[in-house]
Amino acid sequence: MTSKIFRSIFIAVVLVLLVTLVIITGCMSSYFDTVQQNELRDELEIAASATEKLGVPYLEALKSDRYRLTWIAGNGDILYDTDVDSGSMENHTDREEVQEAVKTGSGSSYRYSSTLTEKTLYEAVKLSDGSVLRISVSHATTLLLVAGMLQPIIIIFVLAVVLSMILATRMAKNIVKPFNHLDLEHPMENDTYEELSPLLNRIHSQHKQIDKQIRQLQWKKDEFNQIIEQMEEGLVLLDDNGTILSINPAAKEIFKTGAFCVGQDFLTVDRSSELSQAMDRVNENGHEELRISRSGREYQVNISRITTEDHISGSVLLAFDVTEQASAERSRQEFTANVSHELKTPLQSIIGSAELIENGIMKPEDIPRFAGNIRKESGRLVNLIDDIIRLSQLDEGGSMPMENVNLADLTDEVFSVLRSSADIQNITMTASGSAELFGVKRLLFEMLYNLCDNAIKYNKPDGRVDVAISSTDKNVTISVSDTGVGIPDDHQSRVFERFYRVDKSHSKQSGGTGLGLSIVKHVVQYHHGTIKLESRENSGTTITAVFPIEK
Ligand code: ADP
Repeated sequence: MTSKIFRSIFIAVVLVLLVTLVIITGCMSSYFDTVQQNELRDELEIAASATEKLGVPYLEALKSDRYRLTWIAGNGDILYDTDVDSGSMENHTDREEVQEAVKTGSGSSYRYSSTLTEKTLYEAVKLSDGSVLRISVSHATTLLLVAGMLQPIIIIFVLAVVLSMILATRMAKNIVKPFNHLDLEHPMENDTYEELSPLLNRIHSQHKQIDKQIRQLQWKKDEFNQIIEQMEEGLVLLDDNGTILSINPAAKEIFKTGAFCVGQDFLTVDRSSELSQAMDRVNENGHEELRISRSGREYQVNISRITTEDHISGSVLLAFDVTEQASAERSRQEFTANVSHELKTPLQSIIGSAELIENGIMKPEDIPRFAGNIRKESGRLVNLIDDIIRLSQLDEGGSMPMENVNLADLTDEVFSVLRSSADIQNITMTASGSAELFGVKRLLFEMLYNLCDNAIKYNKPDGRVDVAISSTDKNVTISVSDTGVGIPDDHQSRVFERFYRVDKSHSKQSGGTGLGLSIVKHVVQYHHGTIKLESRENSGTTITAVFPIEK
């Protein structure tokens, strides 16, 4: 800006100087021309009256260095010339001043020399005899004058230029100085040129607008940060080179990293080939999904490319914890496989027995045994299907009608159903205590039935089954103890799994499906309770369910 101001001032000074020079020279030249013309007229007047009286002798006597006098006859011939021999001069009728003088009595004109360095002024007057007396003087033209004054002009010019340069530099600095000290952060607090007020006002209003936009952006950024920080899913934003731009706490936890990883290549945070290959595929396909395991948990990872205006600006990685979902999927698959297997076994036995009877191969006395086998296996199938239906109802988890259930009455009901099978082994069943539980009666019956059924099935002859009910103001406890075969330590953690049996043949023989304890566990969970198993081999088992009292 300083150099621009300097240049403008400098050009202005030079132009003013040149224009001044031209105007002064022009004015002076015109002034001197006028003075000279007046002088010539005076001289001509005197010479004319003298020539009228004295004729050529006067002119001869007059011969002057300053002027030239020419006496021209009415027909244009030269009668006398003070500078040149009149005989050698051409006729002058065509001269402008002569023609004018003949016509009007006086005339004037000027002419330049061929080199334009000399200018001749002419004044002519008509004498009484019709002849014309002309006076002329030559002087240097303005151009020659200027050329003559060139040296002082150049000196003045150089001086003026140097002076203007110094002045221009100082002025430019002085003009710019307040600009350099402007406080643009607080534009309204500046005490500077009046002319800057509109600009400062605009800066002030732009400041206010920018502040508002920054606040809005910050607000949006905070909102975004809060959302991604509270997200349970891991979220990583990457640029087009795979560098981490942003990572939320859940993703830091999954990839075991800290805030320092922002700005680093994602592959330095997670070096697994599965993820790096997925990233490569994302660049080609735009989207990739994969499952990864980290710290004993399973994650579904979705990576998507972000494209803006036809170019890849980065990608976003979203990781969901699907451990429970995956294990549920696995147990569903296992369950389906187990169900098919469990259904197939009794069906094959039924088909086998039926074929033997059909073919008539067996002896008539064996038929009742095979028919009994078919009935037993069919019974097992019915039990199995019942249990599967119960379990799938519990899996669905829909709401069922709840009521206050008297557990002592419920135990009596269960005992009466199981009485005959207990009697077969001479097993004594007792119940102690009483409590009410707000729950689904049908499910609680299932639970107590399965526990007591197991306590009888896996008991020893002449054994005992004891149901104990108790309550506090916080929970209700029901426990079923037996004096049976017990469950070996290494099986205890698995007996609640679907189709898990410690002694397969014993379970089958007693009509077990391997689903009883799974149903028990589900019923307890449905009522938000907990279940505990204590057992010693050959000594007995106690299974205790504790239900919180819902207020
Ligand atoms: P099942 O239909 O085979 O009885 P459950 O799910 O009810 O299936 O029980 C799973 C396994 O746990 C049984 O096969 C049995 O081996 C064992 N079990 C259950 N209850 C008892 C018990 N009271 N005493 C000993 N073993 C038991």
